[in-house]
Amino acid sequence: MRAIQFSGDQRIELVHRPWPVVAPGEVLLRVRRTALCGSDGKLWRKGAAHTPGHEIFGLVDQPGHARHGQRCVVYIPVHCGQCAQCLAGQTHTCERESTLIGWNRDGGYGEALAVPEPCLLPVPEDIDDDLAPLLLDTIGTAAHALRLVRPLLRNLASMRVLITGAGPVGLGGLIALLDMGATNVSMADPRPQRCALAASLGARIHPVGERSQRFDLVLESSGNLAARDQGLEVVAAQGVMLWVGENDEPWTVHETKPVRRKDFFLVRSFYFPKSDHEANIALLRRHRASYERLVDRVFDMAEMGTEFARFMAGERIKPLMRGTA
Ligand SMILES: [Zn+2]
Ligand SMILES: [Zn+2]
Repeated sequence: MRAIQFSGDQRIELVHRPWPVVAPGEVLLRVRRTALCGSDGKLWRKGAAHTPGHEIFGLVDQPGHARHGQRCVVYIPVHCGQCAQCLAGQTHTCERESTLIGWNRDGGYGEALAVPEPCLLPVPEDIDDDLAPLLLDTIGTAAHALRLVRPLLRNLASMRVLITGAGPVGLGGLIALLDMGATNVSMADPRPQRCALAASLGARIHPVGERSQRFDLVLESSGNLAARDQGLEVVAAQGVMLWVGENDEPWTVHETKPVRRKDFFLVRSFYFPKSDHEANIALLRRHRASYERLVDRVFDMAEMGTEFARFMAGERIKPLMRGTA
């Protein structure tokens, strides 16, 4: 099959790979759309032996199987279904399995992949192919993080919120917050086009690095270390600093006076439990027009080299690679 290889030093090649081997308990999924993600940047720089791509939507192609022909997105944490975390519904933090599809085994930048059955999340017919991958990182990760801290937030309507980073997760967070009733959401991002999009979706624009105002909730989605430091400083007393972004560099916390002298919550959130899927579909349905605005390019696999570079340069929000299904 045709697949994308990340060869290291930002080199991307279209290669031929063997057809996926489907193990017992797995099905073959033919890729329809895989969304590009900023977190793939590290594989783009370092290279990867496997086929990357972790925001995957496709069609089950397993004749005779009960799910043959089903439209599904891929839930990337492989999970056992039996440990304490899985039994509590926390499938994203399984204690026995740590494999992530697209990270530790082949993902969606190819024509097809093998997927463990528990990692298939069905997509209803009224959700377009071009919106389906948003059910994962853009909607799932952002909405789960906000649901996690919801009990710590008293009055959302009057709360001051800052989102650092207007990428897909930050913008997904904005849409989810407005859905939850927030009315005062500011966003900071160094790229003017992203700020313009955020403003048109209902955010106020906050200067990058500005520290004089205080916020009851800070959603840090950029992974930028300075933004994390800023968040610790500008989160109001009794407020929540919600840490979602990712960064492989060590993060040194500077215990400045505005960080030390207050009560506040620092909450880390990762991906989402499978049980959120129905609520995420409902969220997508309520704000379909907003989510559609995040998908700014759909392209063929052969264009991946140029499209990935454009994406990493910040020229796109959520481009999708077209598979062959
Ligand atoms: Zn992602
Ligand atoms: Zn488990």
